[in-house]
Amino acid sequence: MRKNKPVRMCLACRERELQKNLIRLQEDNHTIFPYTGQGRSFYLCTICCENEKKVKGLTKRFRLSTEDSEQFVKYLKELNKNG
Ligand SMILES: [Zn+2]
Repeated sequence: MRKNKPVRMCLACRERELQKNLIRLQEDNHTIFPYTGQGRSFYLCTICCENEKKVKGLTKRFRLSTEDSEQFVKYLKELNKNG
């Protein structure tokens, strides 16, 4: 493995993937949003982003409200649509 290519783990499936192929997100106060550059962040792979079951499991783990959870699912769908 090359040293200069950072690899991160997807929080949902625990698969390791190149950082550039992952989506970096942040959780704070029971909401999930794109990483702002500050605070605790985590990664999701694109496969998990398309897997609504996995995404829902994640929002449960972070105790998102139903509304926030739905918004997050929508956000990921938009993300995939835009490539
Ligand atoms: Zn994954």
